[in-house]
Amino acid sequence: FRPEPVEVKQLLRRVVDLLGGQAETRRVRLLLEGDGGESVPPVLGEEERLRQVLINLAINALEATPADGLVRVSAVREGDRVSITVDDSGPGVPAEIRDRLFEPFFTTKAQGSGLGLSIVHAIVTQHGGTLEVGDSPEGGARFFLRLPLAR
Ligand code: ADP
Ligand code: MG
Repeated sequence: FRPEPVEVKQLLRRVVDLLGGQAETRRVRLLLEGDGGESVPPVLGEEERLRQVLINLAINALEATPADGLVRVSAVREGDRVSITVDDSGPGVPAEIRDRLFEPFFTTKAQGSGLGLSIVHAIVTQHGGTLEVGDSPEGGARFFLRLPLAR
């Protein structure tokens, strides 16, 4: 594990660019909120793994969101951490399965592997960060990720 300063804006931009086509196919708006992390200081981590984390969260959000819905990614500084949020306007995560989401092989999808969030959780923990699920003001799920600042 070789952590380095990672620009949040660049990280979010790459993920949104990468998944733009998939969002379009699903007719879901994929947005970077506000300045897209421009004013947020760098976090400490491995860019490639953090990208993998955000891609997993964003794909889950896209898969959960019906046509004409919205997936929104944003980042804010919170003291000595950066909080990155992925919101969607899908059905949300039922309370009774929330504590099982990060278990390997837990899935509610017919063709799901159930591995995405367990990998995401492991990477975030390796980075000294936290991962939580809650309700989005968009009506669906909100996944938030907190990562330590680079300095
Ligand atoms: P998979 O995507 O293969 O099912 P994941 O580990 O990525 O595996 O996700 C596990 C489960 O968490 C999903 O099957 C789904 O029930 C739930 N989930 C994840 N993200 C969302 C979301 N944005 N909205 C609703 N449910 C979600
Ligand atoms: Mg998944």
